[in-house]
Amino acid sequence: MSKLQIHQIPVLSDNYVYLAHEPESGATAVIDPAVTQEVLDAARAKGWTITHILNTHHHGDHTGGNLEIKKATGCTIVGPKADKGRIPGIDVEVDEGDTYDLGKARAQVFFVPGHTRGHIAFWFKESDALFCGDTLFAMGCGRLFEGTPAQMWNSLQKFKALPDATRVFCAHEYTQSNGRFALSVEPQNEKLVARMKDVDAKREKGIPTVPSTLADEKATNPFLRPDSADLQATVGMPGGDLVAVFAETRARKDNF
Ligand code: ZN
Ligand code: FE
Repeated sequence: MSKLQIHQIPVLSDNYVYLAHEPESGATAVIDPAVTQEVLDAARAKGWTITHILNTHHHGDHTGGNLEIKKATGCTIVGPKADKGRIPGIDVEVDEGDTYDLGKARAQVFFVPGHTRGHIAFWFKESDALFCGDTLFAMGCGRLFEGTPAQMWNSLQKFKALPDATRVFCAHEYTQSNGRFALSVEPQNEKLVARMKDVDAKREKGIPTVPSTLADEKATNPFLRPDSADLQATVGMPGGDLVAVFAETRARKDNF
């Protein structure tokens, strides 16, 4: 198994598209191409030839470049089986427990409904890389457009079980606003306070705060921490059921 080289492309107002290059075979995947031209330009600048598109979910800011990039490169589009009807140009359908080999780099697929009903994530274990789309963000999680809090909490627990060193390649730079909310529900969390100082300094200079690590998310992301006594106290649910605390936290974020 081979380690990926990963290149981050900021597009639109706050999206991140990723190129993942497997050097032994030369295979190169675009993860969630929101757009076409900037992705093709970035691949050319790296000297990489796009062979695959990996889609986490159907939203336009994740699949907008699918058909044109496929037309330009003849690449293979891999996406969620549960949402095959909404993924433009899909060739290969994958689901929970499946693996997909990008050249010599193996991805494990997680089915993570909540943000949408068909959302998946790709975990490249040997590369410590998780491409989680709009399910987990730095200090946040995706809005529940098509799923229940119980579904989303179940999905997030799959990520929580991954190694601390896992890099979280989420699809949006939402970190600063997520962090402000996180501080409102867990103001006593010293790691969170320190992380926000770092995030504010980076954003001041226009530096991306993504990827983060799962260690940081486990320590500071309120949506991975419904078991936190401080968070439970803030939302008025001490000792509360974790799904209920998660749901209340998500609802508060929606109105923050
Ligand atoms: Zn989305
Ligand atoms: Fe998105």
